[in-house]
Amino acid sequence: MLFKTHGDKQLKIAIASGKGGTGKTFVATNLYSVLQQNQVSSILIDCDAEEPNDHFFFKSISKTDKEVQVNIPVISAESCIFCDKCYEYCHYNAIFYLPSLQQIHVMEDLCHSCGACSVACEHNAITEKKKTIGTVTTYLLSGNYKLIESRVNIGVYSPVPVITSAIKEAEQQGIIILDAPPGTSCPFIHTVNNADYVVLVAEPTPFGLSDLQKTIAVLHILEKPFGIVINKSDIGTLAMSDFIQKENYDLLLSIPFDRSVASFYSEGKIMAEREEKWKEIFENLIDKIIETACK
Ligand code: SF4
Ligand code: SF4
Repeated sequence: MLFKTHGDKQLKIAIASGKGGTGKTFVATNLYSVLQQNQVSSILIDCDAEEPNDHFFFKSISKTDKEVQVNIPVISAESCIFCDKCYEYCHYNAIFYLPSLQQIHVMEDLCHSCGACSVACEHNAITEKKKTIGTVTTYLLSGNYKLIESRVNIGVYSPVPVITSAIKEAEQQGIIILDAPPGTSCPFIHTVNNADYVVLVAEPTPFGLSDLQKTIAVLHILEKPFGIVINKSDIGTLAMSDFIQKENYDLLLSIPFDRSVASFYSEGKIMAEREEKWKEIFENLIDKIIETACK
């Protein structure tokens, strides 16, 4: 088994999908379970910071929370000479600027903490304060395995700093599974950009194919190698497998629909722990991923 010998090197594998509900977490948690069962050095990071749910699938012994803080600029209207510069530098339209009424302040919910306004201001009108935007929780599992979870506070515009902190917590050798946020926006891009290889989980419906194509286009721009898992492979159309074949992409696994799997999943149970058949399916999948990622 390839994955048993890979534990001494670091390999980051992102499990991603163009939209939610395709079975991404099912794949990520089952992969992590077979790595644990085979005592492979590994870690699971839930990067879906807006809706993390990997922890429902594992029993934890203990957990520790770390707050994630960012710098938010504070503008002093008294020191400001209303020169426009910070307003022009802010690419996120996060500065409320009304010079005619001598009004200027930062709209915290829109601020991305990029620091550009502080650099722009030559009149010492901008200071910074800390703001907590989320939490990174480390769950200690049996066998000294860990699940790291990113969770952004409600109302925060970008979960990217929280995801970054979660990924930084896993500076260790072995296989690191990143359960990526759905979609193709900044949180997804940031997560897959940290990965050596991306597994795309898709359902074979017309919408699923369209999302898959969009996601692949982003991965091409990022120059990330990837393979595809088709979930519920027998209840959609053949257009997705035709597309994968035509483009010569790597089809890593097809998972037919199984009502009992859906039912166990909804109860927070891992199939690779329940049935030998599923354990083997995910052992073969991780082997295939390593083989494809390292070729
Ligand atoms: S830190 Fe960046 S995003 Fe925030 S107000 Fe300043 S320029 Fe805009
Ligand atoms: S750059 Fe400084 S002085 Fe100019 S508008 Fe912004 S805060 Fe005021």
